[in-house]
Amino acid sequence: MLTYELARRRVIEEVTAGKSPPAVERVRIEAALSRVLAQEVIADREYPPFSRSVRDGFAVRASDAVLGAMLRCVGEIKAGEEWKQPFVPQTCVQIMTGAAIPDGADAVVMIEHTWREGDWVHFERAALPGQHIVPRGSEVQAGKPVLRPGARLGFAELGQAAQVGAVELEVAKRPRVAVLSTGDEVVPPETSPGAFQIRNSNSVSLAAQIRLAGGEPVPLGIAPDRAEALREAILRGLQEDVLVLSGGVSMGKYDLVEPVLKELGAELYFDAVAIRPGKPTVFGRCGGTLVFGLPGNPVSTMITFELFVVPALDLLSGADAQPLPLLRARLGASMNEKRGVTHFLPSRIEWPEGEPVVRSLRWQGSGDIAAVAQANCFLVVPEDREKLEAGEDVMVLLRRDVA
Ligand code: AMP
Ligand code: MG
Repeated sequence: MLTYELARRRVIEEVTAGKSPPAVERVRIEAALSRVLAQEVIADREYPPFSRSVRDGFAVRASDAVLGAMLRCVGEIKAGEEWKQPFVPQTCVQIMTGAAIPDGADAVVMIEHTWREGDWVHFERAALPGQHIVPRGSEVQAGKPVLRPGARLGFAELGQAAQVGAVELEVAKRPRVAVLSTGDEVVPPETSPGAFQIRNSNSVSLAAQIRLAGGEPVPLGIAPDRAEALREAILRGLQEDVLVLSGGVSMGKYDLVEPVLKELGAELYFDAVAIRPGKPTVFGRCGGTLVFGLPGNPVSTMITFELFVVPALDLLSGADAQPLPLLRARLGASMNEKRGVTHFLPSRIEWPEGEPVVRSLRWQGSGDIAAVAQANCFLVVPEDREKLEAGEDVMVLLRRDVA
């Protein structure tokens, strides 16, 4: 059986092989958060556009402002203003943060390191040439790209685009992801379920995961465990870029997803991964649509989406597949797990004194959404380990939405 690393690699290889450049659309920067850029953004001018003071204080020639010097203050410069006169040696000019350094001055002395007597300023520290000045053009050169295609637009990238005046951006269209839940016992979340029915929580958690991963969820509701109805629902899903199914992939008599996909001509690349929860995960392609059959137990659905669907959505939206958000932490309490599969256990990671410590939460297995709702990560127990000792270093998979 494939390890989760190999299964993930398989997804990345298949999606990369079948990938064409994503369709693009233009959006305002305000609407571009977490989209993937499909153009270069070029700096319209250099940054900073003038040599800028980064302190409130006095602009000086460093050679004048020696320890104990006393210089006459001949004026002030606010942010947004220009100092037009020539800078006279043995004088200083009061300057505010963000203002342009006068030509001829080469340092700023913080106001805290001076005292003032009328027009005279006393310097309590020697100035070094260049101090508290960011030289013109030292951050960004005019005409050079500041953002490149494939960049995921976070708050800093959007600020960068705004700085250079790029108020509309070409971004990749979001891949459309059909979400189909299966199961005769599954009912819409807004209904009041019968004694043995289960609300369709997977469609909601999957839609949230799809949005977080940059996709556009297309809800297809619930298909019953009957081949004919399932086939029809799957055919609707095959209109989209990706189809994610939940449930119906185990060994039960009514687990029909795999046979129906095969009957529809799907090519399946794997149908089992050595993980718990999430073992019977199916990945394949049917026509032009990538298909993921995720096990229906809610925690399995969540984990397998993070492991296998997220990299596919990264790639389909024109970005690189991001590495998993894995982190090393100290194990808080000893534990035992079955050997032979990699376990992903709902856990909490905390770093009270800066050092991350992780503890797995009590849980009842892959149906226990309540445990994941208390967790901010999953402890990863490798397949070759049975006993883990308190205090040893372990790997943790962060929940990227809340951790
Ligand atoms: P399955 O993978 O179809 O064998 O389902 C495994 C377990 O997950 C069963 O207990 C189901 O009731 C539950 N389950 C399946 N689909 C959903 C869903 N959409 N939302 C919540 N629980 C589900
Ligand atoms: Mg089922």
